[in-house]
Amino acid sequence: MIKLPIYMDNNATTRTDPRVVEAMLPYFTEIYGNAASRNHAFGWAAEEAVEEARSQIAALIGATDKEIIFTSGATESNNLAIKGVAAMYRKKGNHLITVATEHKAVIDPCKRLERDGFQVTFLPVDHDGRVSADQVAQALTDKTILVSIMAANNEIGTVHPIKEIGQLCKQKGILFHTDAVQAVGKIPIDVEEMGIDLLSLTAHKIYGPKGIGALYVRRKNPRVRLDPLIDGGGHERGMRSGTLPVPGIVGFGVACDLARKEMPTESPRLLQLREKLRLGITGQLEDVHLNGHPTERLPGNLNLSFAFVEGEGLMMGMKDVAVSSGSACTSASLEPSYVLKALGVGDELAHSSIRFGLGRFSTEEEVDYVIDHVVSAVRKLREMSPLYEMHKEGIDLKTVQWAAH
Ligand SMILES: *Cc1c(COP(=O)(O)O)cnc(C)c1O
Repeated sequence: MIKLPIYMDNNATTRTDPRVVEAMLPYFTEIYGNAASRNHAFGWAAEEAVEEARSQIAALIGATDKEIIFTSGATESNNLAIKGVAAMYRKKGNHLITVATEHKAVIDPCKRLERDGFQVTFLPVDHDGRVSADQVAQALTDKTILVSIMAANNEIGTVHPIKEIGQLCKQKGILFHTDAVQAVGKIPIDVEEMGIDLLSLTAHKIYGPKGIGALYVRRKNPRVRLDPLIDGGGHERGMRSGTLPVPGIVGFGVACDLARKEMPTESPRLLQLREKLRLGITGQLEDVHLNGHPTERLPGNLNLSFAFVEGEGLMMGMKDVAVSSGSACTSASLEPSYVLKALGVGDELAHSSIRFGLGRFSTEEEVDYVIDHVVSAVRKLREMSPLYEMHKEGIDLKTVQWAAH
């Protein structure tokens, strides 16, 4: 028997791997010292665990241990990278480049910088949600101090050409930050090979605990300097003060270690499940559109628009399947996703989109269940839709003259 409800929203967060939980437990009850206590065994044991985790995290992205700065998560990492560079390099220039489809944790710090007198270019994306290194090259000015472009998008799964962009930035001597939250542990990421100077990651998207993340900060070629957001005891090379949450850090380290070791088998498995889900749905339903790039995308991500169906309604129609819709509930209204809008997806189709996020604990049986339930829920909703009726009768809805009311 299949266990309900089914979790298929792994781009939002992931279940903490039981092996991660197991590794964390002793650090609540037995090894509870402050990693900054340099003068007794409790502190030493905590510090040793933190340093072990630091090297597990570094190994996943090709960094060295000292380049890993612990934060509370990727929202903080992105804020530290963007505001930290802006404040530190302000004399050099006041221009930043990012992309319209970034996570709000990049967009909003950039908007704050705009209010503080910086100039930010928000590059548009193509119909698949991709930006090119050429676009970045054309946007560079002699005032540009930072390029911040995510490795993979959290809604549509599109992977950007990070290596090309990184190489371009290296060539021009401009710092390059990437929000790699969705990419790390899913596709290979190497800060050396890809010319990355700053990289944000978070544990809870890779089967680790919530509330712990890191910022990779390059130490040579070039040595990146940051103005800290938080002042205090001078932890984390002065870039992020505050007592380290040792259990979370231990879990984060183990999560990275597992991701590094299991990625070669896990990613192909996710890709196979994703394709099974995609083909299972599109083989039985017409007027289903894929959002994001067909191949340059995260293995576990599928984002589909079901014409003539409201995404929110569809989610109501299959309450025992946890997915996300392309409409964000703002205070009063349903706003279509700004990411889908940036791809040029119309409001109708944006409202009809669903994000499926497969993960480590997803099974074939769950995928079969979801295919069946999506197909029958969409059919049911379409049967009730007068627009769908007209469409089936061959009426081109774009030419219909609707009566004013
Ligand atoms: C989840 C996510 C974040 C935010 O990470 P937190 O650790 O929850 O703050 C930032 N960027 C992307 C792309 C994400 O998917």
